Amino acid sequence: MAYLLKGVSVLGAAPTDLLIKDGVISDKTDKDAVVIDAAGLVALPGLVDVHTHLREPGREDAETVETGSRAAALGGYTAVCAMANTSPVADTAGVVEQVWRLGREAGLVDVQPIGAVTVGLAGKQLAELGAMADSAATVRIFSDDGFCVADPKLMRRALEYVKAFDGVIAQHAEEPRLTEGAQMHEGEVSTRLGLTGWPAVAEEAIIARDVLLAEHVGSRLHVCHVSTAGSVEVLRQAKARGVRVTAEVTPHHLLLTDELAAGYDPVFKVNPPLRTSSDVMALRQALRDGVIDVVATDHAPHAVQDKECEWSYARPGMLGLETALPIVLSVFGEQWDLIADRMSIAPARIAGLDGHGGDLTKAGTPANLTLVDPSASWVVDPSGLASRSRNTPYAGMTLPGRIVATFLRGEATVLDGKAVK
Ligand SMILES: [Zn+2]
Repeated sequence: MAYLLKGVSVLGAAPTDLLIKDGVISDKTDKDAVVIDAAGLVALPGLVDVHTHLREPGREDAETVETGSRAAALGGYTAVCAMANTSPVADTAGVVEQVWRLGREAGLVDVQPIGAVTVGLAGKQLAELGAMADSAATVRIFSDDGFCVADPKLMRRALEYVKAFDGVIAQHAEEPRLTEGAQMHEGEVSTRLGLTGWPAVAEEAIIARDVLLAEHVGSRLHVCHVSTAGSVEVLRQAKARGVRVTAEVTPHHLLLTDELAAGYDPVFKVNPPLRTSSDVMALRQALRDGVIDVVATDHAPHAVQDKECEWSYARPGMLGLETALPIVLSVFGEQWDLIADRMSIAPARIAGLDGHGGDLTKAGTPANLTLVDPSASWVVDPSGLASRSRNTPYAGMTLPGRIVATFLRGEATVLDGKAVK
């Protein structure tokens, strides 16, 4: 199937016609192409998420590879990296190949499995990193996300191991001894509410240690969900020294603050926790100036019983795939080059996903792209989301930017704002 996007604006440039044919951007013509009136729509390279929880295998009541893939396509994504904290844990070639195969079968986005760093995420013994790298899933990112690789000796060995195949260790930076029993950001609000705090230094201390380890080993480190102004300063210094470190920030840490915990609604419970408005401002600036490389969703679906309960019992995490671009648009406005870099080009580079984050103005670029209507706004209705879970912190909010269509290698996965399958 060929598509002709009439009058589309590529990254905000003057309207043009774009032909999608044989899976790529084409400079030929095709009189049989399906014509899409794209006047007023902006084409972006398909978004790439380096941090998604798809919950399969093990918690299919919260999400499956298929439902999460559909949510991703509807959010404008063409590739997502699936975190390893499934049940069983993705710590062997067998499990990562299973997730990879389920992604292929769903066929809505490229699902790139992330492998666990340690067996069972237990932080005791390195997992079979080489076997996962050599598997059909060709794993390049390894993470114990949900847990920190707290043991510095194991972290060093993991960094050394993945260097051989240019892999990267994605660290959930949380010194566990400093966050025992933590329920929210440690600060004025936690004191007022009487909840145990998660101090900023628990994140910053691990990032500081890990950039030094990465520098020592000469290997690649990626820092998950950076949430504090102090972390930004550590990263800024490390990058200035030439350390091979990249970092991500979530949409919710770019918008929401710890004041939201005051209502004790567990939908706002997340790890790392929502921080202060000065942290939010520092994260926005870091994303603008490139100290933080990418926006990653940390899409974390949870079943109703795990989320709609008392704050202290609720699982941390929020949905993110279907609202990420609208949140980024609401924070930064129509800065299309910035958005394309931080949400597609840079994440594709970090994950080694060739074919994503390509230049849509060049013939031959794989047709992985999404069409956004920046003038359309919509109200977030949890029951209308494609995710199997409902834990969005944005319920009832009016957001700018509607995803109209998404294409994966030239095949439509979303048309007229609806999933094709
Ligand atoms: Zn995490």
